[in-house]
Amino acid sequence: MRLRNKPWAKDKIAAYPQHVIPDPEAQRGRWHELFGNDGPIHVEIGTGKGKFLTEMGRLHPDMNFIGIELYPSVLVSALDKLIESGLPNVKLLNANAKDLTAFFAEGEVARIYLNFSDPWPKKRHEKRRLTHRGFLSLYERVLAEDGDIHLKTDNQSFFEYSLVSLSQYGFVLAAVQLDLHRSDVVGNVMTEYEEKFSLKGNRIYRCEAVRPP
Ligand code: SAM
Repeated sequence: MRLRNKPWAKDKIAAYPQHVIPDPEAQRGRWHELFGNDGPIHVEIGTGKGKFLTEMGRLHPDMNFIGIELYPSVLVSALDKLIESGLPNVKLLNANAKDLTAFFAEGEVARIYLNFSDPWPKKRHEKRRLTHRGFLSLYERVLAEDGDIHLKTDNQSFFEYSLVSLSQYGFVLAAVQLDLHRSDVVGNVMTEYEEKFSLKGNRIYRCEAVRPP
């Protein structure tokens, strides 16, 4: 994601603690209380400008959505969408996914979305890929027994790497689409990157992987 620095972003985020949760560690094991319902908790890692998350929140009022984004300058765009929509079932975290287990208790999360994650193509950066086994072990800990990961990308190498990494770790591949937009998947909600890259003619890959039994 090309980053335009917005020096005011951190202050704006701090002004909306009802939307961007300032102390996610304090909510660990208590997210259902915060949302005020027992609906499933879905987490998008690397939520970017928040189009997917807010559309999902609007379409599924009975579910809860939490978006995690590293960069304040990106997250403010997601915050703007949340302010405008006022969705009570969507929250944002300005945080790094490597701290996931500090934010969520074991089994607290029903689904993790990895949408157009940075591919980090160089071998020396492999550990930064969000489907590296180091991250998969965090996902395994926070996911419910039947919890799963939904992944989309236009990067074939990253997709192949992810399929192998997920399978080797013990996640069970429940669905694989090699061309999402020409598949029978219904109700797909597009992300910002998905719109941009599919308009360029790129093929979109998708898979669903269930937590190791
Ligand atoms: N998901 C969005 C989409 O599909 O339009 C954004 C995709 S963008 C390529 C990847 C995003 O993931 C960036 O905004 C980046 O800052 C964020 N990101 C990368 N690594 C992260 C991490 N470890 N924790 C939280 N966010 C991360």
